[in-house]
Amino acid sequence: MSDTIDREALRARYRAERDKRLRPEGNDQYLQPTGRFAHLLDDPYTERTEREPVHEELDVAVIGAGFGGLATGARLTAAGVTDVRLIDGGGDVGGAWYWNRYPGAMCDTAAMIYLPLLEETGHRPSKKYVEAPEIFAHAQRIARTFGLYDRALLSTLVTELRWDEATSRWIVRTDRGDELRARFVAMGTGPLHRPKLPGIEGIESFGGHAFHTSRWDYGYTGGDATGVPMDRLGDKRVGIVGTGATAVQCIPHLARAAGELHVFQRTPSSIDVRNNHEIEADWFAELEPGWQQRWLLNFATLQTGGFADEDLVKDGWTDIAQRIRDRVVAEVTAGSELSPELISKAFEDSDDEKMTEIRARVDAIVGDAATAEALKPWYRQLCKRPCFHDEYLDAYNRPNVHLHDTDGRGVTRIDETGAWVGDEHVELDCLVFASGFEVGTEQARRSGFETIGRDGLTLTDAWAEGMRSLHGVHVHGFPNLLLIGFSQAANLVSNVTHNLVDAGTTIAAVIAHALEVGAVEVEATAEAEQAWIDLLGSGGQPQFLADCTPGYYNNEGQPDDRRGGMFSGYPGGPVAFFSFIDAWRRSGAFEGLDLRREPAAV
Ligand code: NDP
Repeated sequence: MSDTIDREALRARYRAERDKRLRPEGNDQYLQPTGRFAHLLDDPYTERTEREPVHEELDVAVIGAGFGGLATGARLTAAGVTDVRLIDGGGDVGGAWYWNRYPGAMCDTAAMIYLPLLEETGHRPSKKYVEAPEIFAHAQRIARTFGLYDRALLSTLVTELRWDEATSRWIVRTDRGDELRARFVAMGTGPLHRPKLPGIEGIESFGGHAFHTSRWDYGYTGGDATGVPMDRLGDKRVGIVGTGATAVQCIPHLARAAGELHVFQRTPSSIDVRNNHEIEADWFAELEPGWQQRWLLNFATLQTGGFADEDLVKDGWTDIAQRIRDRVVAEVTAGSELSPELISKAFEDSDDEKMTEIRARVDAIVGDAATAEALKPWYRQLCKRPCFHDEYLDAYNRPNVHLHDTDGRGVTRIDETGAWVGDEHVELDCLVFASGFEVGTEQARRSGFETIGRDGLTLTDAWAEGMRSLHGVHVHGFPNLLLIGFSQAANLVSNVTHNLVDAGTTIAAVIAHALEVGAVEVEATAEAEQAWIDLLGSGGQPQFLADCTPGYYNNEGQPDDRRGGMFSGYPGGPVAFFSFIDAWRRSGAFEGLDLRREPAAV
């Protein structure tokens, strides 16, 4: 198919679509939920009950009880470190899966690899891709299995994290008046945690009902998170702003429930097939011990262009990578020399082919030609979070569903009774913001608290010119603080939990070792951190991100601004990183870390 694609015309179209979306204010265009929307940060699911403040010393405080915090807690427990407390603002564990209960919420990374610690917890996913309630229940299962509920401080927001040099302890303060003095702090506050609102003029003036997808208001819509239909929207005009991965999942449900549904689109998502199916108990029972690690590495290998005998996951994520790989193999077999240019051409050809198929799929499903045209994505597939859905496009065939394509400009204005797109006014009773989460803003703004390290240095100041770390885990100037994430480490965005579990393994190994040898302080040396930053920089910024339509993957069209550059990873790729860090852990040398038996301040 790629032979019939006019490459020049396609590139020109991609550039034009990107250029009309570039905004000088980049990330600053978004609004924090304040004023009329301040309640959007509240917990609608769990009533806050009063409790006595906790004042104590402990080995490890884990901030965040999502999959990152849970996996770290599990790995610590397995390593024999049990004096651990999880702290989370939500009323239960689960993180993103505690908060996101919108209709249709599910994960389109395969459950066999997305759900952490399946072998350790003995859980069989019900389907290839599972719904949010099953994912939330799995988070609870991990907490139960590893005894992490016992001392968890839930519905508790950390307000400050301060290093006390005299005692080599982190002082963790919370909105409950707690004061924990922790030897170590593991921070798993998540990459997509704090809801943001679209920067639309007049947003505060909307007089109807409004909420963000991460705080779905079933009290207003009827129905519930388990899939009971929303029965209170039949006479309502509902608007939804955004057409990212979240909106793609909830729009089919809103389309069925709402009297009229108005979708306000700035950039269409790419919607590939999903093909969900059940996971058979007999087949699952036959899997050999150690299967999950094999599946994880198989997926990571194939998804990032490597070779494996078999594709265990077989989905849209591995599909494009294998097309690229097969093209390279065909060219080399035909006598071409393996070169960066050859790989780059194979990448472009495969992507053009894939995106042409995705646009053809829109035509095949959506009846109205103008609507179909507006739903076609004009950018490379990995510029934005690829979506996989079998009902989304069909929702636009319903007579009550209206697509308002803003041609990349976004909603013009909101007033008391509805939204404006150009000079068209759309009357609305309810407005749903599927506008995503803060990504490129400072750490303190995203986590909701400041981290104050050695000599009063804040993490915000330490990272004023961009994140700095050793292995994405340790930060010079912040002893005994360990980050649970993917940035500056494997950076495997197609399966975030793989990164988180691996970080948890590293953190547990470091803490267990420090406790064993009596080290009171563990800190990345300045030299090791700098060497790591230099190594990350040597990989260069892929040009394709700069050419991409704006989104959080490329810091809203400003990929060179390192302050927003959370998507940097090991130059050798995720699989090479996992192998490197495994060897680093196993060596027992903990190279790059300064382990001190006396506080540095003494
Ligand atoms: P996103 O940030 O991906 O999407 C936000 C949407 O709001 C975009 O469509 C954006 O348009 C639109 N928008 C922003 N401002 C305006 C405006 N002024 N006018 C009109 N539209 C506007 O957030 P999501 O919550 O959809 O997804 C966040 C992430 O969560 C995903 O990328 C994914 O990583 C994860 N997720 C994963 C799922 C899974 O299955 N695994 C499911 C759901 C979410 P534009 O594109 O032009 O910026």
